[in-house]
Amino acid sequence: MANLQKVAFYTLGCKLNFSETSTIARSFKSEGFQRVEFSEEADIYVINTCSVTENADKRFKTIVKQAQKANEDAFVIAIGCYAQLKPEELADVNGVDLVLGATEKFKITDYLNDLTKQGFAEIHSCEIEDADFYESAYSFGDRTRAFLKVQDGCDYKCTYCTIPLARGISRSDNLQNVLNNASEIAAKGIKEIVLTGVNIGDYGKGEFGDKKHEHTFLDLVKALDEVEGINRLRISSIEPNLLKNETIDFVAQSNSFVPHFHIPLQSGSNHILKAMRRRYMRELYVEKVSQIKTVMPNACIGVDVIVGFPGETEEYFLETYNFLNELDISYLHVFSYSERENTPAAEMEHVVPLSTRKKRSKMLRGLSAKKRRAFYESQLETTHTVLFEGENKEGYIHGFTENYVKVKTPWNPELVNTLHQIKLDKIDEDGIVRFTYNEPEFAN
Ligand code: SF4
Repeated sequence: MANLQKVAFYTLGCKLNFSETSTIARSFKSEGFQRVEFSEEADIYVINTCSVTENADKRFKTIVKQAQKANEDAFVIAIGCYAQLKPEELADVNGVDLVLGATEKFKITDYLNDLTKQGFAEIHSCEIEDADFYESAYSFGDRTRAFLKVQDGCDYKCTYCTIPLARGISRSDNLQNVLNNASEIAAKGIKEIVLTGVNIGDYGKGEFGDKKHEHTFLDLVKALDEVEGINRLRISSIEPNLLKNETIDFVAQSNSFVPHFHIPLQSGSNHILKAMRRRYMRELYVEKVSQIKTVMPNACIGVDVIVGFPGETEEYFLETYNFLNELDISYLHVFSYSERENTPAAEMEHVVPLSTRKKRSKMLRGLSAKKRRAFYESQLETTHTVLFEGENKEGYIHGFTENYVKVKTPWNPELVNTLHQIKLDKIDEDGIVRFTYNEPEFAN
C-alpha cells in the first residue's frame, strides 16, 4: 500500500516499549507510510501504552487530545500493556478508533484498510495466555543508544505487579537472532546497545517455544561480547537473584559490557520482601553489591525501591532507609506503591496513607541525590570514555561515561554520537560533571 500517508508514534513506559514502537514504526515504513513527529499533523497516531506509569489513564487521555488537536480526523490506535489490561477503558476514550492487544500489536498494519473514524473504537484483544510467542524488536533512530529486546514476559508472581498479566509468560529471542540484531544495529553506526526485556536475567527460557532454558543470560552476554563493531553493551535492569557472580566477573573483564548495573531491590526489609513475594532476601542483595564493587570498584549501581507497600510501618521503612544508606550504591529510582487491580497486594491490609507514601518517597529521593553526588565525587580526577548524545540542551551537549556519570560541555554538533577519552574534573551546580579531554588532538 505505497501511499504517503503520515503516521506518528507516542511511547509511554520502559525501554522495551521503545524498542517495540521503533520496530512497529519500521513496519509502517516498509508499507509506504511516512513517519512524522507526534506534534505534527498525521493520518494515523499510534500510542504505545504502559500499565505501570502513575495515572496511566490520565496520561493516555491527554495524549489522545494532543493527537486530535493536530488532526481531528486522524485514526488513533492504542497498543501496549495498558491496551492489553484494560482495552474497554481505552476504547471508551473519545477519539480512539482501534485498540490492539498483545497478540495483535505487531500485526498493526493489517488493520489499516479502512481508516475512517466510526465514532467508536474497535477492540482486537486476547487472553494473555495466547501471547506465548516471541516478537523480536530493537529501537533505532530515536536516541543515541539502541534498546535491543532479548526477552519478554515474566513467570514471577510479585504481589504488586501487573506486568505478567500484560505481557504473558517468560520467553526469549533465539541467540542467533539477538546476535544478528546486534550486528545490524552496530552496522547503522550506533555505539551503544542496551539489553532490554521484562526479566532479562531469565533469558533463554522459551527460546524455542518451550519452557526449557536453551541458553542462559551469561551465554547471551558472552556471545554478544564477541560481536564485531559494538563499542558498548549495557544491561538495563536485572533481578538480583538472576545476576550470577559469574556474570559479574565476566562483565569486569569483558570487551564491551560497561560497569553499570541496575538492580531492583524494592525493599530493604525482609518482612516486606516476603510480602512482595520477591525471590531473595536483603542479604543476597548485599552480596551482589559487594561482588560488583570488589571486581569493579568504579561500577555504577542503580536501585529500584518501592515505598508505601501495604504493611510498611515506620520501622520497616527506616530499615529500608538505613539499609540503602549503608550500601555502596550510586542512585535510586523511587516508586510510590500504587494499587493495581487483580494483584494480591491490592487486597492486603495495613494500607499506607498516600501522604505517608509521599513523605517516604521524598526522603528516599533525597538519599538518592546524596548517593549520586558521592558516587560522582568518587569518580573525579579519573579517566573515562564518554558517549555524547544528540540534543542541544541550553547550549550544552550531554553524554554518559561507561559507568553512567553524566557529563556536559558546550554544544558542538561534531561531538554527536562520538566517543571520547575524558578526565572528570568537577561537579557543576546542576550536578552534572565537567571534564577535560584526554586526547591530545582534542585540546581543550
Ligand atoms: S519480576 Fe516481579 S516486578 Fe518484575 S516484571 Fe516480574 S512480576 Fe513484575
